[in-house]
Amino acid sequence: MKIKLIIPALLIGLLAVSCSAQKKAASAGKSIRVLIVGGGSSHDFDKWYKGVDAETLRKDGATVIYTSNTDSIAYYLPQTDVLYLSNNQPIKNEADRKAIFAFADAGKGLILGHPALWYNWKDWPEYNAVLAGGGATSHDKYGAFEETVVNTTHPITKDLEPKITLQDERYRYEHAPTATDIDVLVTNSVAGSDKVYPSIFIVKHPKARIVGIALGHDGGSHDIVFYQTILRNSVKWAAGK
Ligand SMILES: [Zn+2]
Repeated sequence: MKIKLIIPALLIGLLAVSCSAQKKAASAGKSIRVLIVGGGSSHDFDKWYKGVDAETLRKDGATVIYTSNTDSIAYYLPQTDVLYLSNNQPIKNEADRKAIFAFADAGKGLILGHPALWYNWKDWPEYNAVLAGGGATSHDKYGAFEETVVNTTHPITKDLEPKITLQDERYRYEHAPTATDIDVLVTNSVAGSDKVYPSIFIVKHPKARIVGIALGHDGGSHDIVFYQTILRNSVKWAAGK
């Protein structure tokens, strides 16, 4: 009698184990796949993008690949939900440039971080016009300035302190009149200047979900909760979650 009861109990136990394994596999399958592209000048890409930002996103459950080989972008994009460009080195291959635009036209997510919001490439003006909504050609000297959340109801600004002071390079990012329109979520300002620039914004591409993050020269941003919250929220929003 006892043996007969034990066998069904074992079977139920085995079924429960296999179901929970399936559930785990299913939720792993839903992990947002992020491709971070870095490399170029003036920034420690390995430390802040390959290292700290990738870790910030992995802690949130994302699957992150980092590359400094811009020739590999087209190869990785079919397995990518959110393309996070931080590089200021050129993207030379026409195939990779086309793949990025096709990725945007397919309604995928893009994040353009600090160095990638510069006017980096004279032979590729479409990048700034269509994807970045403009760009920066100068910045303040590295130092303290204030960030102000101007849209508190957007998913990207969820859980953010409304106003903080941090240390970074204040990019003088400007929306170009003929470029894709933008929606500003966070602005920056500094004592002694009446100029206010967009710090975090959405580029209103007709298909893609694009976030501009002008912050990010070094650990003054990458290491703090304010920036990490923006990055995590941006990846989720850009992935359509
Ligand atoms: Zn910088």
